This record gives sequence, C-alpha cells and structure tokens, in this order.
Amino acid sequence: MTSNATVSTGRSPTALRVLPDPAENEEVLRYLSASRLKCWSGCRRQFYYRYVARIETPTAPALFLGQAVHELLRLYNWRRWKGESHDADQLRNELESWWTHEAPTANVAWKKPEDEGKARDQAWSLVETYLEQQPEAPNGKPEGVEVQVDCELGSGIPPLIGIIDLVRAPGVIIDYKTAARSPDPTMAAHQHLTQLCCYALLFREATGRKESGFELHHLVKTKQPKMAIHCLDPMTSTQEAQLFFLIDDYLDGIASERWLPSPGQHCAWCDYSDRCRKESGIS
Ligand code: SF4
Repeated sequence: MTSNATVSTGRSPTALRVLPDPAENEEVLRYLSASRLKCWSGCRRQFYYRYVARIETPTAPALFLGQAVHELLRLYNWRRWKGESHDADQLRNELESWWTHEAPTANVAWKKPEDEGKARDQAWSLVETYLEQQPEAPNGKPEGVEVQVDCELGSGIPPLIGIIDLVRAPGVIIDYKTAARSPDPTMAAHQHLTQLCCYALLFREATGRKESGFELHHLVKTKQPKMAIHCLDPMTSTQEAQLFFLIDDYLDGIASERWLPSPGQHCAWCDYSDRCRKESGIS
C-alpha cells in the first residue's frame, strides 16, 4: 500500500529545513524508518557504524531465529488473508526451506555447531505456541498482512517507510516480537514507542483512519514457550510530536555529522563495542 499525501508536521512551511546536502550521506537521507530512528535515539555512534559506514557484522542467533518466526507467521497470515486452510506440516516444511536458503548467507554467529539445529527447533516451537495461543480464529481474515507503506511527512523530510506485520479489524496494528523472557508491559510499551508511532503514521496515511490500538505479540523463548500480548492505546498527539522532534534531531545530527557515542548498559550487546572502545581510546 503506497500513498503520497502529506502529513502535517504542525509547523509553518518556513520553519522547515531544506534537506542537508546528500553528497556524503545519500543513503541515510533517502528515507526514514523505525529502525533507523530507534538506532539514532539509542546511540549516534552506533548509527554511524551501521548506516553511514555500513560496517557489516555477523547476524546474532536470536535475530536470525526471530526472522524465521516472522517469516512463518507471515506465510500463515497470508494464507488466512487469502481464505486458505492452515496446514502445520506445510508450515514446518516451509521453515526448513527458508532456513536452508537463508542460513548459508546470513553469517550467523553460532557459538557451537549444534546451536543452529536447536535454534531451528526453537523457532518451530514458538510458531506452534503462536498457533495454539493466538487470540484470533485461524479462519478469521486479517485486514492486512506484511503491509508495506510509505508516506511523505512534509517538505524537507525524507519519506517514512515501513512494513506492518499484521492489521486486525478494526484497525489494530500487531507487531511480533521474540523475547528471552516475559517482558514487563510498561517497559515493552516504552521500548517500542518509536516503532509504534512510525506505524501509526503509516497506517493513518495509508487508510485515512486512526488506528484503534496496538498489540505487541511476544513469543517468549522459555523452556516451555509462551505468548504474552500487550495491548496499547492509539498514538497520542504528544507521542506524535515527540516523533517529529526525533526526526528533527535525526536530520540535524546527520547534517552536522554528530556521531556522538552514548555509553551505557546497552554497550554490552552492541555489535561495534570493540571498535567504539578503540576509537574512544579505551583498550
Ligand atoms: S559501544 Fe556503546 S557507545 Fe559505542 S557505539 Fe556501541 S552503543 Fe554506542
């Protein structure tokens, strides 16, 4: 679904900046996405390594497992959308095919060779858990599946693009997460706020309607996998304004190449921590 209408930023046109010269940072200024904005708000130095210098890193096993689960749920929901019946054996075979095709090129950082098989089995048990515990009837038709949307945000701002996992009538935006443990509902809402606000803008742009809410569907990788659903209210005008402040900061920061490190606990799982420490003079 693609739309070209303009969303008001709440500012007068004269207050809008002209985009910075894209010569140096053409790729990062081509479009905005939830993952780019989230990375920017977390650590500008990490953003630089990932999106400007484009330093490739091995894929984390948890990320690869999450991608496999997303793919299977996409196939499952796509069949529901088309009114086709669900077949667990077919889905399991599709997991095997996806894995065989993707794993060789994904450069996954398995710690031990046997971890790959365990991760594949775990991905399947998470999908089985979803099929058993999902709140919707398997034959219910979703409003949208893997909805790809882009929208213009106004003069001087690159377009926002994104893919929404699932939309359930009436206008509930659903996002899938895989997690090692049950997330705290308030923290989950806080951590994913930027992403959900981006989806709200995209949904409103594509449909001309306000979303009726969000659901975070967490598939938890405990010994006995389980599903945790967190329901959230629609985006508020304050949250929307915060998102536009973040976009302002993003564009200004890229224009002035403010790649500041933001040291903190999150450095423990940063893909670039060795490089960052060295460049900061810490051996
Ligand atoms: S190690 Fe920390 S400060 Fe450095 S890039 Fe990663 S998140 Fe940022």
